[in-house]
Amino acid sequence: MKFCPNCHLTYDDTANVCGQCGGPLSVIPQQVQQQAAYDPTDHTAEFSPQDISDNKVFAMLPYLMSFIGVIIALLAAPASPFTMFHVRQGLKLSVVSILVTIIGTIIPILGWIAAGICVVILLVVEIICFFRVCKGQAKEAPIVKNFGFLK
Ligand SMILES: [Zn+2]
Repeated sequence: MKFCPNCHLTYDDTANVCGQCGGPLSVIPQQVQQQAAYDPTDHTAEFSPQDISDNKVFAMLPYLMSFIGVIIALLAAPASPFTMFHVRQGLKLSVVSILVTIIGTIIPILGWIAAGICVVILLVVEIICFFRVCKGQAKEAPIVKNFGFLK
């Protein structure tokens, strides 16, 4: 597999120039290819290292402050694809938390217990996501990635 260092698009080995900008293509190292194949939820390679290092702080906010963090990140770094990726993940987590809380409140006792467990799980997921941002990664949030909305 080859990729364009300018546009971050990937091409087959048969391609010589980028279809987008016409620039020369680089060969993706085997190791990176394997990692990408093993983890389809890891989108780190889709974002530029510059974007990741510049906007890491904003990308953390949706996990730390839920909807408020989402709004701040949207206002602070709307042009950053890395931040927007984490905004979507954070939004997904926040929406799921609210749904769980609402459903849990309606059903007495059993619902409260189930909602309590789910909220703790979601909190752990948020912490995992937060540390991934610290490492400059863009992986889909575990568990909630299976929910089809907000892809
Ligand atoms: Zn290109």
